[in-house]
Amino acid sequence: MLSYRHAFHAGNHADVLKHYVLSLVLDYFNQKTAPYWMIDTHAGAGMYGLDSTFARKNGEFEDGIARLFAAESLPKSLADYVALIKSCNANNLHFYPGSPKIAEYFLRAGDKLRLFELHPSDCKLLLENFSHKGRQTKIEMQDGFAGIRACLPPPTKRGVVLIDPPYELKSDYSRVVDCLKDSLKRFATGTYLVWYPLLQRSEPTEMIKQLLALNTDYLQVEMTVQAPSIEGYGMHGSGMLIVNPPYTLPKLLDETLPILTQLLALDETADFSVNYKIS
Ligand code: SAM
Repeated sequence: MLSYRHAFHAGNHADVLKHYVLSLVLDYFNQKTAPYWMIDTHAGAGMYGLDSTFARKNGEFEDGIARLFAAESLPKSLADYVALIKSCNANNLHFYPGSPKIAEYFLRAGDKLRLFELHPSDCKLLLENFSHKGRQTKIEMQDGFAGIRACLPPPTKRGVVLIDPPYELKSDYSRVVDCLKDSLKRFATGTYLVWYPLLQRSEPTEMIKQLLALNTDYLQVEMTVQAPSIEGYGMHGSGMLIVNPPYTLPKLLDETLPILTQLLALDETADFSVNYKIS
């Protein structure tokens, strides 16, 4: 049952938070010359046309990346992320890169990209979007929760893993926990980024509780853009739990999250939090 299509949501506030944080992590990894693997368990299509009927349906990017694209002055790390998005566009905003393309932007010659995408249509688009790539990038139409096992530990012993399921199936929450437990057994020093939605239901909170109980170093960042709806449904924000985060991340996020939250706010309740344990 694969009904989720990321094209409806590309460039929204949640993508902005997720991809900004991913870009900070990859920038940190590039500070050392030793090569690394980037593994994306739920890769999506890789690149999204914002003029498409999908993206135009709810116009979610208008309250996401479009606001940053139009911003006049931004702190350096946010400006660098916007420059990355601008590198995919001529003058105006027409395209938004997904996590595989964000990763490709940072990858150096010796680094490797491993992408899993289960939806046949999105996997076809992903293959087209990486058709110029040789052996550096491997794309598999496979369950990413299972496929990751063969990638860990990466031969280079340095790795970044993005776990970004749609959470349309309740089982995604428990699968994330199982996946992280198993991955840490295989590769304890990897940096893992788990994205999750902020909803008025217990599953995300319960998942985070279980992930924190793994007792690893972590950084948790959450950003709400509006008050939870009176009807009780819909996403009012999102979060990222980063296991084994770069030590530089708390300072960067403490500096930029107030600005990012203000830029993406849909009402006056918009807020953020950054919590971490880094030994
Ligand atoms: N990571 C992408 C990005 O940031 O640009 C967005 C990914 S989207 C939130 C989730 C994707 O996971 C969808 O494209 C969906 O088809 C795919 N998917 C769902 N279940 C999957 C599974 N078990 N293994 C791999 N991909 C899956």
